[in-house]
Amino acid sequence: MPEKAKRLSGFGRFPWVETHLLRPERIREVPQALSRGPVIGRGLGRAYGDAAVAPGGRTVSSLRLNRFLSFDAERGIVEVEGGVRIDELIRVLLPRGYFPSVVPGTRQVTVAGALACDIHGKDHHRRGSFSRHVLDFELFLPSGDRITVTRERDEALFLATAGGMGLTGFISRLRLRLLPVESAWMRVDTERTKDFEEALERFHASDASYDYSVAWIDCLARGRALGRSVLLRGNFARRSDLDRRRATRPFEAPGGAPWRVPWTAPPGLLRPATVRAFNTAYYHAHPKHARDRLVGLDAFFFPLDRVADWNRLYGPRGFLQYQLVVPEPEGALALRRILERLAAAGAASFLAVLKRFGPAEPGALLSFPRPGYTLALDLPNRGEETFALLRSLDRIVLDAGGRVYLAKDARLDPLTFRRMYPEYERWLAIRRRVDPEGRLASALSRRLEIP
Ligand SMILES: Cc1cc2nc3c(=O)[nH]c(=O)nc-3n(C[C@H](O)[C@H](O)[C@H](O)COP(=O)(O)OP(=O)(O)OC[C@H]3O[C@@H](n4cnc5c(N)ncnc54)[C@H](O)[C@@H]3O)c2cc1C
Repeated sequence: MPEKAKRLSGFGRFPWVETHLLRPERIREVPQALSRGPVIGRGLGRAYGDAAVAPGGRTVSSLRLNRFLSFDAERGIVEVEGGVRIDELIRVLLPRGYFPSVVPGTRQVTVAGALACDIHGKDHHRRGSFSRHVLDFELFLPSGDRITVTRERDEALFLATAGGMGLTGFISRLRLRLLPVESAWMRVDTERTKDFEEALERFHASDASYDYSVAWIDCLARGRALGRSVLLRGNFARRSDLDRRRATRPFEAPGGAPWRVPWTAPPGLLRPATVRAFNTAYYHAHPKHARDRLVGLDAFFFPLDRVADWNRLYGPRGFLQYQLVVPEPEGALALRRILERLAAAGAASFLAVLKRFGPAEPGALLSFPRPGYTLALDLPNRGEETFALLRSLDRIVLDAGGRVYLAKDARLDPLTFRRMYPEYERWLAIRRRVDPEGRLASALSRRLEIP
């Protein structure tokens, strides 16, 4: 199989890492690709940091392993290869009345990547994370062994792979339970809150009425407006909710081709003043309170996909995404401290995302979600200034008993990682069982000193 020398990064375009990219065409070629380390699986490279690249080693792309294998329309179960994208699942299955049970903020991720990061969506409080809807999956180990992993047969390996960042094997096939839906439309309620305490209050008061809930939060607002937010919450519309015209074609909702950022922006394009103006405009563009608007699912779930390659706007040094979760109720104070620090630093972040997680997956090891508040924000990479700021946020998160999300991370240190993920040693014992030589390795695993 040909290997191509490449410099690869994650979605944040930081860091760039030298590697050799392999693209198996058939599942039977995977063992050969894994035969020499360091080696790691890669999907669409939408993890923000350095998780999906093997430094100086082999990065094995799943993108040509993208076949649909079976579909049980009665039970809503689909079996696909690991390189199938959420985008393809939606295109193929929505007209048949099904939607993926958990989707991230972009359609452009693979199902294997989704399991390796155990991704969450706006419905985490209702439906948990991605792995909850995985019935079983096939894993190639560095030894060449090919195993079908179910909760019943090997629960430990199932749990270690969900959120295990590709470090337990190469995921080649998955069986997923889908969500039955009656249309491609959402019934959405919008609320503007004056500050972030009010946003948290609204989550507590009424998240139970919505399957999907999220807030866009203005991280640059200060003083009494600290953390002012726009809450967007909704449910899939039933066919009976649609007018006659829409009800005749319930699975057609406006999409439209994305606008593409044609080049990497010059350094400094996203100055705090620009971002502040954008955030203010976004906040005021929403009504104080609007009920029951009918919105196409792309506009609701994937607004960022409207601008393809928007990550280039951050310029040649790229950017860092920081996503944290802190437990309730103490976490509210930690969030306040974080927002104050960001606002004081004038650290430009386009509207950040705030959400309330539901319970964690039972027995979860490295899977990120824990009950509490999660905040995700983007910061342009300004070198040490940005790293120092993020280290100070790490301390606040740790003190509150929280953690940061590895799928977004490019700079956490080994000790902080271990303190944030107390199940790490148990996870490591399972990894040692399936990869005793530590052949599966990424820039992230090296940085975190995972043996
Ligand atoms: C705009 C945007 C919005 C996002 N929103 C969310 C969100 O709402 N919630 C959320 O949880 N995440 C979110 N993410 C993160 C994203 O969902 C995850 O990082 C996802 O894993 C990316 O999938 P991918 O196919 O690009 O995987 P990659 O980025 O290529 O890889 C991610 C990880 O999966 C591993 N992996 C990939 N393929 C395989 C394989 N075949 N076998 C074993 N391991 C493999 C890699 O080694 C790596 O550790 C978002 C990302 C972007 C860019």
